[in-house]
Amino acid sequence: MRKRLIVSAASALSLFLAVPASASDFRAGTAGVGDSYYPTYGNGGYDVSHYDIRLKYQPATDELEGTATILATATQDLSRFNLDFALNVSEVRVNGRLAAFTTSGDQELEITPARPLAKGSQATVVVRYKGVPSTVKKYGFTSWHRTPDGAVAANEPEAAWWWFPSNDHPSDKATYDVSVLVPDGNQVISNGVLAGTSSQAGWTRYSWRENKPQATYLATLAIGKFDITRDTTASGLPVYNAYSKDLGDNADAARASVERTGELVDWLSGYLGEYPFSSVGGYVPNVPTGYALETQTRIFYSPRQFAKGSNTSVVVHELAHQWYGDSVSLSRWSDIWLNEGFARYAQFLWSEHENEGTAQELADYVYASHPADDPFWTIKPGDPGPDNQFSSAVYERGAVAVQALRNAVGDEKFFQILKGWPTERRYGNATIPEFQAYAEKVSGKKLGDVLNTWLFTPSKPAVGPVPPGAAAVASLAPGAGADAGQLPAEPKSWKKIQDTNSAHEAHS
Ligand SMILES: [Zn+2]
Repeated sequence: MRKRLIVSAASALSLFLAVPASASDFRAGTAGVGDSYYPTYGNGGYDVSHYDIRLKYQPATDELEGTATILATATQDLSRFNLDFALNVSEVRVNGRLAAFTTSGDQELEITPARPLAKGSQATVVVRYKGVPSTVKKYGFTSWHRTPDGAVAANEPEAAWWWFPSNDHPSDKATYDVSVLVPDGNQVISNGVLAGTSSQAGWTRYSWRENKPQATYLATLAIGKFDITRDTTASGLPVYNAYSKDLGDNADAARASVERTGELVDWLSGYLGEYPFSSVGGYVPNVPTGYALETQTRIFYSPRQFAKGSNTSVVVHELAHQWYGDSVSLSRWSDIWLNEGFARYAQFLWSEHENEGTAQELADYVYASHPADDPFWTIKPGDPGPDNQFSSAVYERGAVAVQALRNAVGDEKFFQILKGWPTERRYGNATIPEFQAYAEKVSGKKLGDVLNTWLFTPSKPAVGPVPPGAAAVASLAPGAGADAGQLPAEPKSWKKIQDTNSAHEAHS
């Protein structure tokens, strides 16, 4: 499915010429970071610490031009390295000198600096580019969504290729300055804090800053005409929300949901610990997509999330990701449960808080409503495969796995783990085995069996997530229809939680 790199004779020759004989240990960085789900995503040989992205965008024509300045450190002796990018590049400089570049595969930009980079050395990489992102399809899709008044970049696991060159993998996080020039009357939304605006000759520049490490897929950009609301939460955190002016019938429900952000982020911090970032909020552009995405500090919501009325549950889900996914990010995409299992479980906790069904009742309902022959159970939330990475089983069975963990360690230890993990790993990366080791340390219990049962077994567990001393929940028999009558009652929150299931229906 993913194309292999083809190293041309020309690039092999340029590599030979660029590396002096005395530096024969200098090698090309790999074209992928080594992720088994997405072998070409990210790149080897360097680590990015900062992206400075300076753009000019014309909403009428979708023309984007820009200069990205990337601060990186070589992690090996590098003769050549790749960035992931899809627009047309006109010039690349490395440490001030013009660098040779070529493209390969779907999104590989291969850069050969004039002087090779020694391991541990700092590199400043400047890439000049332009394009019409909506016309660029990679692997058959685009993550750049045109709106009636502009455009939006938001997708998982990839969105950066359409607006800035990057080391596109969550294992390489960096800080961001995003500065965009747009015709007067348009606004620019991105991550973090709006550091300033300035106008001149009919154009306005918006400068955004995210000062905490951020994964590339969590960087977002929207240009259009928005109504903005600004506030601070009860705990003092700045809130910045934006709504397209043309949301139609979904406008009020969107506001009735997203304007709850301040209340909900303060509520979540009671469970997940201190909020890790310096700003919070969401934006609802007029896009035809159906999903929401936990873009760091500034959550992307599709208007369709509010087509059936307000939904605070989806706001809770995306806010929970600010701890589980954004502050503590995946080291590899196969561990997606660390993001989605816990974000869905936060919705269970919100349901409990709203007296619309306890987490246990929701977990019982998930367990009971899928008979053993339902393909739902063949997906392992702990390693679902790239094609099922955002399958509902990752979310629902993933949240049942969290409830099973809670039952195994007891409420006191469970809530200690839930809050302690994002504190311990703040701004970093992690894997499921590392989470298991942490949970075992805190609880003093071996958790291999419970996690294997709920995360890594491609069949329905023999019994549900039963709390100590409780009776096993009834379940639909294989082949039974949904109306078989033996199900536990549907929790009141169920439908709103289901309405968030298109949360990451990436590139479909
Ligand atoms: Zn999610």
